[in-house]
Parts: sequence; structure tokens; C-alpha cells
Amino acid sequence: MCGIVGYTGNKRASGILLGGLKQLEYRGYDSAGIAVMDQNKITVVKASGRLENLCRRTNDGDSVPGGAGIGHTRWATHGAPTEENAHPHLSNDGRFAIVHNGIIENYLSLREELIAEGYHFESETDTEVIVHLIDMYYDGDMRSALAKAASRLEGSYALGVICTEEPDKIYAAKEASPLIVGAGIGENFFASDVTALVSHTRNVIYLEDGEFAELSPDSIRITDCFGKVIDKKVSRISWDVQAAEKGGYEHFMLKEIMEQPAAVSAAISPRIKDGRIVFDELSITAEELKHIHKIVITACGSAYYAGCAGKYAIEQLCRIPVTMELASELRYSDPLIDDHTLLIVISQSGETADTIAALKECKARGARTLAVVNVVGSAIANLADDCVYTWAGPEIAVATTKGYTTQVSVLYMLGVYFGELLGKVGDQYDYLVDELLLLPRRVQETIDMNPGIEALAEKYHNSKALFFIGRNTDYATALEGALKMKEISYLHAEAYAAGELKHGTIALIEEHQPVIALCCNPLIMEKTLSNIVEVKARGAEVLALTFRSNDKIVSSADDLLFIPKTTALFSAVTEVVPLQLLAYYVAKANGCDIDKPKNLAKSVTVE
Ligand code: GLU
Repeated sequence: MCGIVGYTGNKRASGILLGGLKQLEYRGYDSAGIAVMDQNKITVVKASGRLENLCRRTNDGDSVPGGAGIGHTRWATHGAPTEENAHPHLSNDGRFAIVHNGIIENYLSLREELIAEGYHFESETDTEVIVHLIDMYYDGDMRSALAKAASRLEGSYALGVICTEEPDKIYAAKEASPLIVGAGIGENFFASDVTALVSHTRNVIYLEDGEFAELSPDSIRITDCFGKVIDKKVSRISWDVQAAEKGGYEHFMLKEIMEQPAAVSAAISPRIKDGRIVFDELSITAEELKHIHKIVITACGSAYYAGCAGKYAIEQLCRIPVTMELASELRYSDPLIDDHTLLIVISQSGETADTIAALKECKARGARTLAVVNVVGSAIANLADDCVYTWAGPEIAVATTKGYTTQVSVLYMLGVYFGELLGKVGDQYDYLVDELLLLPRRVQETIDMNPGIEALAEKYHNSKALFFIGRNTDYATALEGALKMKEISYLHAEAYAAGELKHGTIALIEEHQPVIALCCNPLIMEKTLSNIVEVKARGAEVLALTFRSNDKIVSSADDLLFIPKTTALFSAVTEVVPLQLLAYYVAKANGCDIDKPKNLAKSVTVE
């Protein structure tokens, strides 16, 4: 959650920190603060609420001089989102300031220990123990004090630290929370993600757990906990700041919806060479795959629903049982997982705390693990045996769109690829590869063939509740459609397997109740049609999503959304697009904060 930025160089640090925090706003936060060092003195300014409050308080940074500093946007876990609890936190003598993302699980015992040592606490946060630990261990060597303090911490952290004894240096450390170092010329940076850095530098170093970074304007030293220097690769970010800005759209979410043809193409096209699917990054062999008895897909939120959509294709094409598990449940379920299990974990950020925990749990039980991740170098990408990147580019809106469609695209490809390795795909292979290659174009066609969604949103935005129904692959997409609606429009939206209606939900259908019926799977469409008839008989208004040529559905529904004809096995990638747009326009009609919905954060790095 939330964000960290650090800067050292010859510019005014405060402006750069505030600019970086602005780029990280999308991660969700409730207060913000900066600490800047000027001639052995640290100035801390904090404000609860929006970043604007901090900008106003510092006159956009002008009132805080100094060339090295750290900044933070907080998403409170311990202590209310007040100014006192906002970061940075100072040591009692004002020599050290720190910012922290994550949770320190053993903070209570550390707090007692530190109070007994004579430290007094200014906040209710778990974080404050860290700054006092550093102070306690400091004997003139900042790196070693930080390493000693870190060795006492249990939980997750990305840390930024400054110390008055070393006025042009900034320090960072991480464990299970993201942190990236940015290399500039005469200036260096760190941040919780590249979006905060990309307007200054595209050369970045992905810090790994247990590594420490010591930055001055002219040097970057990455060390392990013993102080041994680690030779790290500098990666080049290929997208620029424009890619992380709105590009003329009113919201990031709309921009990201419209980017989906390109994003899906980036996920699929480079992996198809001469009509064959090639996953250069995968090490799992056909022999190893033959030992797999079951595939478990685990994730949270939309990534879980991406898994639900991918499950149908993988199971169908590989003929191996695929089960879906919520990561937050799997981690505590004493799962029946062994070395005959392939665990697929999905996470846009690669930092989702529950997914990391589920991955570790299953790895410890011997599962072969494969991650589907967007953010390069993230924790999940590093932890899994294999990682397939989705190459969606930066996703800024909290509600995922291109993150989801690229995840589903990758899962479809894995289904065909593994199915072929197992000898189960047969002569369908060429047809399926062609269908995959056509997906980006079909996403564009879907956008083009539904120009009336904004008007439809006008009709539906005052509804008390919206029900999404579908069967099989349509049901998987209905789940994501309903989640999107909930996330950004705050309307009560639920997805039901259409066959379940008569087992309870139909009791909720009354005059004018909107029902969104997904009918894009020809194998089961007649059955969903019966459900449409049932709900209409009870007064429901039906908005159907189907193919233009599907006369029976077209004539039964009150309103229509369309997708071009595709194989049902791969339909979620196109089918979800009108539902994303519907959620977007309903939220807009309701005046919601679309890119930063209330109570939500982009990457959920705490349990
Ligand atoms: N656990 C810390 C707090 O509540 C840090 C939260 C964050 O990641 O922003 O202050």
C-alpha cells in the first residue's frame, strides 16, 4: 500500500519528494509527510488527508530547504490516520527520520523494550519502534545500525532513513514490501514503484529482500546485512512518464480500458513465433508437466477472477483438474499440496501480501510454482520457480482493467502451451493460436461496437442493486464485471451462476430490477436464455451481453451490449470490456472518485 520516495542530489529535495508522492497517490493513502535534511538539521512536515494539504503547508516544497530527504504516503494500519501518526517519524533527539511501508508484527514487544531503555513514543504506529531501534544501535555506522534494527523486525517493510550525521545520504531497506532505487546523474532516488521515478530517470535497480541501499548524489551502494557489497543489475524502464499519465483521458481507468488492445497484444504477440507459442522464460519441461496431477490457481480480487476465467481454458486444454483458491484462504487451510501440484499465482503488482504468503506455503509443501505478474522484479516474480510477465505497462487506476485482461490472456496461452506439451491439444492447435492472435483486434472491435454505454449508464446508475448472471465461462466474467461495478460505483453488484438463481436469488427479483445477462458461450446459451425469461417474468429489466447475430437473446433483452464472435474458451478478454465501461460510466454518473475509489488501495501489501 501507500508510497515511499527518497532523494539525494543538488536540487531542492522537497519538490522532488512531493512530485514523487503525487505519482504514488494511486496506491491509496490517508496522510502524507516529508523529512528533509539541511546542514545537519532535519525538518519534518506532515499533514493528514490529501497530498494537497502537505503541498499547501510547505508552499509546494519551497519552504523546506535541503538536498536530501524522504517522503511518505501512509495507509494506516496501526493508529488512526492523524498527523501525529503520519510518517516520517523522528528519533527523540531528532538525529534520525524514517518512513515505512508495511507492518511490524512484533512491534508491541519492541515498544516495551524501547520504553524500558528510556525512549518515548510520539505516535501509536508500529513504525516508530524502527527509528528508536536505529538510534539505539547507532555507533557512527548508519548502515550497520539499520541492518541491526532490521534484524529485530518481524513482518514487512520498505524503509527510507536519513541521519543528520550524514547530511547528503539516504538509506533504504526492504523485506516483503516493494522498493526500487533510481540511478541519476549527480542525484539518486528510491521509491516504492517506478512511477515515482520515471520522470527523473529510467535506470533502476530492483532491491531484493534483505538488501540495503546507501545513496549519495554520486554513489549507490547495495549491501547485504553483513555489509558485503552486492553487484546489482541496472534495468532500463522502457516506458516513459507519458505512459503513466492520463494521455488526454478524463481518468486513468478509461485510458487503461482503451489501452487494452495494445496491452493484450504486448502479452500475446511476442510469444507467438512462426505460428507456435514460445515461452522463453519458462523452465518447466514436458516431462515435469506430466508429473503434475492437479493445478491450483491462487490470487486475490480481480486476479482471482482472472484465474476463474483461465481455469476453463487450462482444464479444457490440458485435461488436468484445476481448482481456484483465494490466497487469503489457501494460506491458512493446511492445503493438500505436494510435488505433483502446479501452483499458479496471479498478481498485478507482484506484492499482494496474501498471495505471497500462499505462494510460500505451497512452495514449502513441494509445489512447482509459476507466477503471472505485471510488475517486473516484484516479490512474487522473484519467489516463484517460473514467472510470466503480463507486460500490461503501468496500471494507475486502482480498479484493474488491462491488468486483468492481460492476466487472462497469459492464462489462455499457458493453457494452449501446456496442453500442447502434454499432447492434448491435437489438431485444434493452429486454430487456437490464430484465435489468440486475434484477441487484441477483437478487444478493439468490442470497444467500437458499444458506443451507447454512457447512455445505458444513465438508465442504471440509480439502481439499488445490479445482478450479473452467466454460466460457465460467462459466469467467470460476470464475477469480474460485478466486482468492477462495486469497486468504483459503490453500487451493490453481485454475480450469480445463472443456474443458481432458482436456488435463492430469484427471491430478490422484483419490478425493474436490472439483471445483466452474459450470453457469450454458445454451448450453454440456451440455458441462460431460460433464466432471462424467468427473471423477465418477474419484472426484471435485462441488459444482455452477446453476439450481434444471436437473434434469440437480442429479441429477449431490454438492452444490449455486444462482443464479436470468438471461441467461448477465450471470450473473457473481450466480454469483460463492455462491463468495465459500464462500471466506469455508472461511477461517473454517480460522481465517484473513479481512479481512487474510497477504502481501496492499488496493491494490497498487508494482510
Ligand atoms: N504500519 C505503518 C503505519 O500504520 C505503515 C503503514 C503504511 O504502509 O503506510 O503507520
